[in-house]
Amino acid sequence: MILEVIGAAGLAAAGITAYGVRGRSAQVFGPSVWKGPASRRAIALTFDDGPSESTPDLLSLLSDYGVRATFFQCGHHVRRLPRIAVRCAADGHEIGNHTDTHPALYLRSAQFIYDQLERAQRAVIETCGVTPSLVRPTFGARWFGMRPAQKRLNLLGVMWTTIARDWCLSGDEIVQRMGTAAHPGAILCFHDGRELTHRPNIDSTLQALRVLLPKWAAEGYEFVTVSEMLARPSVKP
Ligand SMILES: [Zn+2]
Repeated sequence: MILEVIGAAGLAAAGITAYGVRGRSAQVFGPSVWKGPASRRAIALTFDDGPSESTPDLLSLLSDYGVRATFFQCGHHVRRLPRIAVRCAADGHEIGNHTDTHPALYLRSAQFIYDQLERAQRAVIETCGVTPSLVRPTFGARWFGMRPAQKRLNLLGVMWTTIARDWCLSGDEIVQRMGTAAHPGAILCFHDGRELTHRPNIDSTLQALRVLLPKWAAEGYEFVTVSEMLARPSVKP
């Protein structure tokens, strides 16, 4: 479909291709969700780019509020910090796939994309003993190889309803940005790592969540994993 559009008209095609790559609701390059049903007063917090040395502080904070979330982990970090990856799963959080070494996937070959997802998948299975059923594309950008790779690995794409931009905002700015982002079915994207950086500083994320978690709890929100929100079984080996 997208090829016909590209052939048909230049500028319009460029716009639609950009939508297909980055659009949160696009299905062009594979099945993908960006929100859950609004029928339940629940939100799904997601954390990308970990595990990192900073993840245990986040896990403690989530535990304080009884929050279960979804961690989209990179295979590279899972192999680097296996005990932290295991603790994420043991604490009841869902583990999703966020590629092996966090490259951008657009313009890449289908084999490159498959290898990135398969290596990350293997790292999580071998380390945590669970098989991810969800994938979040790096930089929220997808490409042609995503669909066959997702099919072979049984992965559903997950974008987000709102992204915190917590890699560049202060704690106060994150609170301001995300303070109104919760609504039934929202999938909210934060980070417990910074791509391949070791010992990343996620203080602004933690500072914001210390304000946002009690606020959302007081507003009556349940915190669920993405698979729970979608009423989708998270596949076990
Ligand atoms: Zn990322």
